[in-house]
Amino acid sequence: MESFDPAELASGFSFSLYVHVPFCRSKCPYCDFYSVPCLEMEPVVEQTIEELSFFVDRLKPKAVPTVYIGGGTPSVLPTRSLQRLLAGIRRCAPAPAEWTIEANPESVTPEFLQTCREAGVDRLSLGLQSMAAGALETLGRPGDAAANRQALELLRSGWAGRLSLDFLVGIPGQTLEELTRDLEVGMSSGAGHLSLYSLTPSTDTPAGSALAQRINQDLQDELWLRGYQRSAERDRVWNT
Ligand code: SF4
Repeated sequence: MESFDPAELASGFSFSLYVHVPFCRSKCPYCDFYSVPCLEMEPVVEQTIEELSFFVDRLKPKAVPTVYIGGGTPSVLPTRSLQRLLAGIRRCAPAPAEWTIEANPESVTPEFLQTCREAGVDRLSLGLQSMAAGALETLGRPGDAAANRQALELLRSGWAGRLSLDFLVGIPGQTLEELTRDLEVGMSSGAGHLSLYSLTPSTDTPAGSALAQRINQDLQDELWLRGYQRSAERDRVWNT
């Protein structure tokens, strides 16, 4: 088999970067994104920087207009590792027009925001999912409603960049009133972009399958449409 030469593929093109941080505090039972517990994070960061440099050095893009750091949960990286990762990305993408990082509320701290700000990250995507305690408990996420409120407070005072909030719809037991409250929180938070995702649990685990069976598809669709209508009233952009 011939050896792979990335330079032949894309030399002279512009491309964007997606960097995956494969760590989470705990595994949510509905999730099939790749992530592992927060152990041995530093070697993975070093390896990521090395691979990134390998490809960027060979591809020599004309420009890297956008960078997106997703996961997993990028905000669980210790400050030093995050600084290393952001500096490594900066070397490969010196002047992106948009640089986003995903974060979960329970790991948003003043240090995290400061590190992102200093490196040039200008957009934060926060996975709130819901402001309702019961809904978050059903999801089995590591954070809770108090952590969500606290993260929004911190962002209000310590984040001048762009902000995007993720919410889930169709969580078993979720009511229209809860969703409406979630949307109000989102729309009054200063976020420029809200994403409303339909909960689609992985059926690869017993817990995920059990959760999937509890979803009322008609209700989920109805709630999503109500959310869309509310967004149209307030001129917000939504994802599905
Ligand atoms: S925090 Fe996000 S990426 Fe991590 S397991 Fe939960 S849903 Fe998946």
